[in-house]
Amino acid sequence: MNLYIHVPFCARRCSYCDFSIAVRRSVPSAGFAESVLTEWRGVQADPGWQSSPAVDTIYFGGGTPSRLEPAALAAIVGGVRDARPLAPDAEITIEVNPDDVSPAAADGWRAAGIARASLGVQSFSPDVLAWMHRTHTAEQARAAVGILRAAGFTDLSLDLIYGLPAERDRDWRADVEEAFALDPDHLSCYGLTVEAHTPLGHWTARGQSGAVDESRYADEFLLLSRALDERGWEHYEVSNAARPGHRARHNSGYWTGTPYLGLGPSAHSSTAGERRWNIREYAAWEAAIASGSGTVAGRERLDAPQRRLEALYLGLRTAAGVAADLVAPAVIGRWVDAGWASVAAGRLSLSPEGWLRLDALVADAS
Ligand code: SF4
Repeated sequence: MNLYIHVPFCARRCSYCDFSIAVRRSVPSAGFAESVLTEWRGVQADPGWQSSPAVDTIYFGGGTPSRLEPAALAAIVGGVRDARPLAPDAEITIEVNPDDVSPAAADGWRAAGIARASLGVQSFSPDVLAWMHRTHTAEQARAAVGILRAAGFTDLSLDLIYGLPAERDRDWRADVEEAFALDPDHLSCYGLTVEAHTPLGHWTARGQSGAVDESRYADEFLLLSRALDERGWEHYEVSNAARPGHRARHNSGYWTGTPYLGLGPSAHSSTAGERRWNIREYAAWEAAIASGSGTVAGRERLDAPQRRLEALYLGLRTAAGVAADLVAPAVIGRWVDAGWASVAAGRLSLSPEGWLRLDALVADAS
């Protein structure tokens, strides 16, 4: 079983962020840990989880999990282990913001059993960080890498965002070079999307921010792809790349259909054939825990055509691709001729140029 724990607390909302968060100056760490463990204990009898007794990965995502007290993270890991065995090589990841990283915090995370960190850098440009409403500086991001390494984090991932509006005049090449210079094990690079109910969405609607320029977006994605190739990295999913041996096992599970359980507000879960999602708002989720009324806000079962579509979409995101017989030969022929895909050993996988057209290609194959 892969376990995701959504920690909703943030110091402020970043300009582009549409996640379920709770802006708090003071974080109720102990109470949150107890609520998560109440939810965890409540799912133990669920038949959907009987077939996967051990916990293979734990991923603290958010929100900003690094705002929780390390003792609360340790309590959650310990409480998870009380109910189910943790695999001996379990991957435990925490998303951290650079301004939360101190030697004491990093030691506390390591003491909780966490050895993988995903550091939210996004950019090293002060102008870009200010525009994004990030709470940290580039210097804090650089320092955080050293602190995490000194504390013994053996897997370190950096998050970057590309495809900003042209008027930002962002030097993406410089950000990519600086990220590599910090010698991480993994990179997660996401193209900016403008969601309506975010500060960026409002700026865009009012004409105060330009729309994302498609050709700039494509150029930056392809620049990244070439930089990964030159260094012998594995671009193993459209938004994720790793040095050999450092792929994220938890994230990989999402693309390969591994069952996962989500705890916390807005967390999603997936078992064989069923998906469900939790109450989105932190206060409502907390109230549901307190009253025992259940935290699931909705659930769905996919029919066969939906499952095929999902397998296509998730599989084509990865370098491993999908079984070639999932897509009509004539469609594959067009994609290969255009340089968007290749077929090897019965697997169809997309090239970086194909990944830029992922949604259109999945629609083409449907
Ligand atoms: S730190 Fe992450 S979750 Fe929090 S507001 Fe910023 S992008 Fe959203």
